Amino acid sequence: MALTDGIRFVDDPGFECAGKRVLVRADFNVPMDHNGMITNDKRLRESIATIELLRRKSAKVILMSHLGRPKGNPEPKYSLKTVSLALSNLLKTDVHMATECVGDFVKSDTNKLGPGDVLLLENVRFHKRETDDYKAFGRDLAANGDIFVNDAFGSCHRAHGSVAGVAEVLPSYAGLLVKKELKAFSTLLDEPQVPVVAVLGGAKVSDKIGVIKALIDMCDALIIGGGMAYTFLKASGQQIGTSLLDKEHLGFAAEMLELAKRKGVKLLLPTDHLVGFDLKDGPGDIVKVIPDDHAAFDIGPETRKLYSDTLRNAKTIIFNGPMGVFETPAFAQGTRDVLSAMAQAKDAGATVVVGGGDSAKATEDMGFASKVTHVSTGGGASLELIEFGDLPGLKALRRQA
Ligand code: AMP
Repeated sequence: MALTDGIRFVDDPGFECAGKRVLVRADFNVPMDHNGMITNDKRLRESIATIELLRRKSAKVILMSHLGRPKGNPEPKYSLKTVSLALSNLLKTDVHMATECVGDFVKSDTNKLGPGDVLLLENVRFHKRETDDYKAFGRDLAANGDIFVNDAFGSCHRAHGSVAGVAEVLPSYAGLLVKKELKAFSTLLDEPQVPVVAVLGGAKVSDKIGVIKALIDMCDALIIGGGMAYTFLKASGQQIGTSLLDKEHLGFAAEMLELAKRKGVKLLLPTDHLVGFDLKDGPGDIVKVIPDDHAAFDIGPETRKLYSDTLRNAKTIIFNGPMGVFETPAFAQGTRDVLSAMAQAKDAGATVVVGGGDSAKATEDMGFASKVTHVSTGGGASLELIEFGDLPGLKALRRQA
């Protein structure tokens, strides 16, 4: 089954929404600094295409999203008010802000909307029921609309009220961002061109357990870098000094090394490292054996070459997780070099998909966003899509078709 099978999209011929209240689940979960300023508006920019399409078709557009992790109660720092202002600028129209996301006040707000108007509901996670009672909360949210559009790819791995619950009640469609994401992930999951190479990095092994297994099944080579590589190196009997270690997953790492060997999948680990006493200690010494009192913060030059050579020969690449502490310039070279090799592979015809989160940030900050095939807006969602081949938010859309 192809990923898009059974899903209706807002640009399908025959999609009608003129004069209707269209309830859109978007992903406005943007990073903010301690002053409440948005530090990266990629997710807002990516949502504009669907909103504009709906406005052109004379829909009354009602937007909803979560922001941050409030504990099921209103918390001013997680209000979507700032997002409504940023959206007003991007859309060049007033985005009205509701004080709630369910209830009579919202209903009266939606009743005042005319065709082409846009209203943003307050953070859906101000209600515990969004996560804890998704069916009932989905029904309450559904009272705000006539049609549901899910354009929140970054939340499709959550069976929450605003994602899956509403889809069980209203006629439902996927938006243009979800369509774009599914098209990109289809090239990885539905008959990818070989060789397929995955690059995994970042700090935590625990987040990536399921995806590591799935990638060993689908890849010709799995490149591991970043902090998580040191649990694998330790499991293979090497000295890692004070580098990141996830003791709990040492057994898992050993199992994966064995599994890759059995399946004939090349699993590459760093062979040299940039180390420091601590993070302020840049630019860092290059070593093959990590001293007891040092930690590795980036891959070394030999590893950079090995990883880059492997990537340049790939036809399909998935990148999830930086190769080092890329936020510190002294330890950013490993991530920059693998991105550069991926851009070269893309020039030679490869498909390169970057998972969300920190990999997306590194790709953008280092100027590679336009040099890869796709930068996903979903971190957890992209990992779970690779692991399970489907997501609860997508299944809920399919149930309706
Ligand atoms: P994750 O959320 O697991 O993808 O981790 C991303 C974070 O991993 C980034 O903030 C990096 O700074 C960090 N990271 C990457 N490599 C290392 C390393 N060798 N040691 C410590 N942190 C690292």
